[in-house]
Amino acid sequence: MHKAPRGTFDILPEEHSYWKYVEEKAALLCQLYGYQPLTMPIFEDARLFTRAVGGNTDIVDKEMYVFQDKGGQELALRPEGTAPVCRAYLEHGFYNLTQPVKLYYLGPAFRYERPQAGRYRQHHQFGFEALGEADPVMDAEVIEMAWRFFLSLGLSGVHIQLNSIGCKLCRPGYLDVLKEHYSGHADSLCPDCKGRSVRNPLRLLDCKKDHCKGTAETAPKATDYLCDDCQSHFETVRVYLGTLDIPFHLDHRLVRGLDYYTRTVFEVEPQEQGGQSSLGGGGRYDDLIEALGGRPTPAVGFATGLERIVLNLKRQGVDVPPLPSPVAFIACLGQEAKLEAVKLASELRKAGLGTVMATGDRSLKAQMRQADSANSSYTIILGAEEVRNQSAVLRNMGSGEQQTVPLAELIRVLKSR
Ligand SMILES: [Zn+2]
Ligand SMILES: [Zn+2]
Repeated sequence: MHKAPRGTFDILPEEHSYWKYVEEKAALLCQLYGYQPLTMPIFEDARLFTRAVGGNTDIVDKEMYVFQDKGGQELALRPEGTAPVCRAYLEHGFYNLTQPVKLYYLGPAFRYERPQAGRYRQHHQFGFEALGEADPVMDAEVIEMAWRFFLSLGLSGVHIQLNSIGCKLCRPGYLDVLKEHYSGHADSLCPDCKGRSVRNPLRLLDCKKDHCKGTAETAPKATDYLCDDCQSHFETVRVYLGTLDIPFHLDHRLVRGLDYYTRTVFEVEPQEQGGQSSLGGGGRYDDLIEALGGRPTPAVGFATGLERIVLNLKRQGVDVPPLPSPVAFIACLGQEAKLEAVKLASELRKAGLGTVMATGDRSLKAQMRQADSANSSYTIILGAEEVRNQSAVLRNMGSGEQQTVPLAELIRVLKSR
């Protein structure tokens, strides 16, 4: 027996009410803020991610699915969406359009991680990016959008964690004092952090191990080492967020796991944290497009995982609308009636009425059971007599009430209810 690979899962029909709900809210949100949809391939040249996300990050170093295709090209299943969006921005010359260019995407991403609640090897991301704008009002808009998205889903207690990690001018100075702080605690760091202190010191701050957490708490804060431009940018972002009444907390340990971030970084935290990770995160990445071969292009964005959202919707008991069920189920007895049923089903569907038809040679009782499981509002029963009279028995599945309706009237009658 085959099973779905570890860390992957099937989204079963009964789960799709949640998925549809989230996807529709996402599309509506993007429409409200003027973001256009973009669909990228699920695999890209592996070097795109090495260059964009960083060769020293866990995502590229440990978690990326890399393979050679039959032509010998090294490809990667995309571990995130921002780098592909930037690739598309450059490839299609979006820098010639009026800036900012606002795009959103929805689709799978792949990371070879230890599977746990809300974390999968194939997961689904919704992200939006505003490219070509340095104005701090853009940071505030993206944060507001992320926050409003979770509100619109009906999730409560969601809040924003915010930090600034500076730019290429002020960050090196900060990393020096950070490394100095950690060198005083070198013996007590976990093996991962020992590696990070050389390769990626910023990530020392978000180690989840207890002892390292203590060292991070007392570490110097990036926001104390910002250059004047970064400082005033960060201040302005906070003023806008205040104006918008968005609840945020400063968290100097927030750095995000990708190398491309500059200045503003933020995460959206769920109500109860109980070990679960954030609902999503984002920030500014002013150097990324240049690193991918474009002109210097400031940008800011956000991404969230749909699995975690669905998990939190269930935890908070948020009611989502059920998927629409068929209007009618057609039961029929005998070959003549079946022929009529085929024709009728086709006509109902053409008229926009969802219809399911009985198949096989089942008894009427068995067909009624089929009708129950189809969860239709009505069952239409056709027998030899009904065919002769060009009528059908229409049964309301809620009330059990039945009436005989001429076939020519059926669509009108069903539509009028
Ligand atoms: Zn700076
Ligand atoms: Zn550590």
